[in-house]
Amino acid sequence: MFENSQENKTNLSQLGEFGLIDHLTKNFSPKLESTVKAIGDDAAVVRFEDKETLISTDLLIEGVHFDLAYMPLKHLGYKAIMVNLSDIYAMNGTATQVTVSIAVSNRFPVEALEELYAGIQLASKIYNVDVVGGDTTSSTSGLLISVTAIGHAEKEKVTYRNGAKANDLLVVTGDLGAAYMGLQVLEREKEVFKANPNSQPDLDQYTYLIERQLKPEARKDIPPLLNDLGVQPTSMIDISDGLSSEIIHLCKHSKVGANLFEEKIPLDPAVISVCEEFQIDSTMIALSGGEDYELLFTIKQDDFDKIKGNPHLTVIGHMTEENEGMHLITRANQKLPLIARGWNSMEEKD
Ligand code: ADP
Ligand code: MG
Repeated sequence: MFENSQENKTNLSQLGEFGLIDHLTKNFSPKLESTVKAIGDDAAVVRFEDKETLISTDLLIEGVHFDLAYMPLKHLGYKAIMVNLSDIYAMNGTATQVTVSIAVSNRFPVEALEELYAGIQLASKIYNVDVVGGDTTSSTSGLLISVTAIGHAEKEKVTYRNGAKANDLLVVTGDLGAAYMGLQVLEREKEVFKANPNSQPDLDQYTYLIERQLKPEARKDIPPLLNDLGVQPTSMIDISDGLSSEIIHLCKHSKVGANLFEEKIPLDPAVISVCEEFQIDSTMIALSGGEDYELLFTIKQDDFDKIKGNPHLTVIGHMTEENEGMHLITRANQKLPLIARGWNSMEEKD
């Protein structure tokens, strides 16, 4: 798709590095008070008064984290920002600035990078963050994007992975597994397209899944929601690798165990039906699928009434003493050890 459309495109060498930076960033003007200096000097300057500063970075590599055969560049730019903002929200913080670094081969015309930056700009507008810098360099073949997100939170609000206590409730936002199943649908269509380039896929019934894969939304709404509800989470993490691996992270950092109830795991009906179609167990997809960018956190039992019935939040289990271990309680009331088997770029995880 992307490879076939190189005619009438502007070669990167026509602009040169500095020309390219100017071209891509000319529409980025800072909006936030905390941005003292954005693009244009040797370093950006930000100011957060008496708050804690949050910084998180991620690197995305073509062929490892994304496939341009079905990932439009605009979506890729958007997703690269989401992945990082999600980490700031997972600290119960507000994201305010990002830097974006790219390594790009000359197989990409300027127009392709414009698309990438259109996605970055859209994300920064919707999520109210300033793009305050980055770096631009060449790569021999693929595309690399590294985003660093900067944010802040009040000291008492910052939520770490290590604060969960036995008997705390385990809560997840949104629903799980859709992004992974969206990827499965896209990969199946890619194979069909390879075999028959004239095929016109009908993806209507998979819209939600594909959107969750190609255009994930980070949970910017959750830190203010928890604040409004008067709930201070005891620990929190974002779900990038799958529910089970994130629960294990919380448990290990907090030195607690956990019981996760299969029947409580929130699944969209589209996930349930596509899992039937692919003959995969939907619980396994929620546990190991990844890329949902929902938030997983723990709260004190006393706070249950404050979140009860909230459509964004589902209690899926509770924490236990460390020596009780980490378990999935199945619908049949079986107790299975929770294992992390992420299907992401790393394959097996411990
Ligand atoms: P330096 O030589 O200090 O690395 P550059 O010429 O690379 O400076 O960058 C000039 C300015 O443009 C800096 O403010 C830098 O942060 C910004 N910048 C460079 N590349 C990008 C990019 N891909 N996206 C956003 N800003 C960028
Ligand atoms: Mg530079």
